[in-house]
Amino acid sequence: MSKEKIILTGDRPTGKLHVGHYVGSLRRRVELQNSGEFDKIYIMIADAQALTDNADNPAKVRNNIMEVALDYLSAGLDPEKSNLFIQSQVNELTEMSFYYMNLVTVSRLQRNPTVKSEIQMRNFEASIPVGFFTYPISQAADITAFKATTVPVGEDQMPMIEQTREIVRKFNSVYGEVLVEPDILLPGNDACKRLPGIDGKAKMSKSLGNCIYLSEEPDEIKKKVMSMYTDPDHILITDPGKLEGNTVFTYLDAFAKDEHFAEFLPDYKNLDELKEHYTRGGLGDVKVKKFLNNVLQSELAPIRERRKEFEKNIDYVYEVLKKGSEVAKNTAANTLSEIKSAMKIDYFDNDDFINEQREKFN
Ligand code: ATP
Ligand code: MG
Repeated sequence: MSKEKIILTGDRPTGKLHVGHYVGSLRRRVELQNSGEFDKIYIMIADAQALTDNADNPAKVRNNIMEVALDYLSAGLDPEKSNLFIQSQVNELTEMSFYYMNLVTVSRLQRNPTVKSEIQMRNFEASIPVGFFTYPISQAADITAFKATTVPVGEDQMPMIEQTREIVRKFNSVYGEVLVEPDILLPGNDACKRLPGIDGKAKMSKSLGNCIYLSEEPDEIKKKVMSMYTDPDHILITDPGKLEGNTVFTYLDAFAKDEHFAEFLPDYKNLDELKEHYTRGGLGDVKVKKFLNNVLQSELAPIRERRKEFEKNIDYVYEVLKKGSEVAKNTAANTLSEIKSAMKIDYFDNDDFINEQREKFN
C-alpha cells in the first residue's frame, strides 16, 4: 500500500465561504499546502452532497460553485499545488457509494450525531431525503477514492471521519486491503474547531444566516462585529465580564495575534492581558469589539482584494476547475477499478471470469 501523504477535504457550495470555514479548515489547508509535506492535495466542491438537502434548488448549488472556487483561490489555495475539483464530475464516487452502502446499517447512520443535529436544524423530521441520510457514506467515497490519509476539517466532521474509517475497515476485511484509513486533522485551537455564529449560536453556518463572509465588505464586517453577542450580564464597564460563551472573545481566540495588539491596542501585550482586564472589570465591550473589528479587517482585506482580481478572470477559474476535475476523475477511476477487482465484479477486465465459467461448464 502506498505511503504517500494525501489530503482530501472540501465544502458544500451552498453559499460563499465564511470565517468559520476559514479558521476551521481553509486557513489550515493553505498552510499544509505550503508546508510541502503532502504528496497530493485534493479540494472538492461538494455539489452532489449539497443537492442532498437542496434537491428543489439546484440553481443555488450551481450558482455557488464559482463563489466557493473564488474563495479558495483568494484564501491562497494554489492550483499548482492543490487540485480543485467538482464532486459531481467524478461519477466514480457515486458508484463507490453504492457498494459502501452495503457495509453500513441504518441504525449506524441514525446514531450519527452530526446528521441528527442537521436533520433537526433543517426541520426534516419525518421527511428526510434518503440521499441526505446517507451522505456520510458518500463522504466515505470522496475520502477513500483519493486514498486520503489526512482530512483537515472542523469538529462537526468527526463523526463522518469515524464512519469512513469503519467502512474502510469493513471493506478491507471482507474484500482485501484496498482502502486507506484516513486521520482527521482538527484545528489546534479550540475556538477554531467550531466557530460560533455572530449571534452566539453554537456554529457559524450558511444555513443559519449568522456568518461573516470571507469576501464581506469592510462596513459590513464592522456592523456585524458591533452587533455581536457578548456577556449579557456585562452591563456597566466596571462590571466584571465573563469569557465563556462570549463570542467576541472566541473570535479573538481564533484570530488575534500578538502583532495585532502592537498595531491596534498597544495598552495590552496579548490576549491574556486583555482577558484578565475584562474579567476583572473596567473594560467595555465596545473597546473589545473595535479591536476585533481591526483584527478581522486586517486579516480579510488581502483575501477580498485577491478575490476582486480573480473575479476579473473567471475563465481562468473555470479552467482550474475543469482540469482539476479531470485529474480527480482519473484518480478515482483507478481506485474504483481496484475496488471492483477486489469485489470480483470486474468480469470483463481480465480473463478470470471467463476462465472460471469455462471450467465450471466444461
Ligand atoms: P451548510 O450549512 O450548508 O452545511 P456549513 O457552513 O456547515 O454549510 P460545510 O460546507 O458543511 O459548511 O463545511 C465545510 C467545512 O468547514 C467543514 O470542514 C466544516 O467542518 C468546516 N466548518 C463549517 N462551519 C464551521 C465553523 N463554524 N467552525 C469551524 N469549522 C467549520
Ligand atoms: Mg455543514
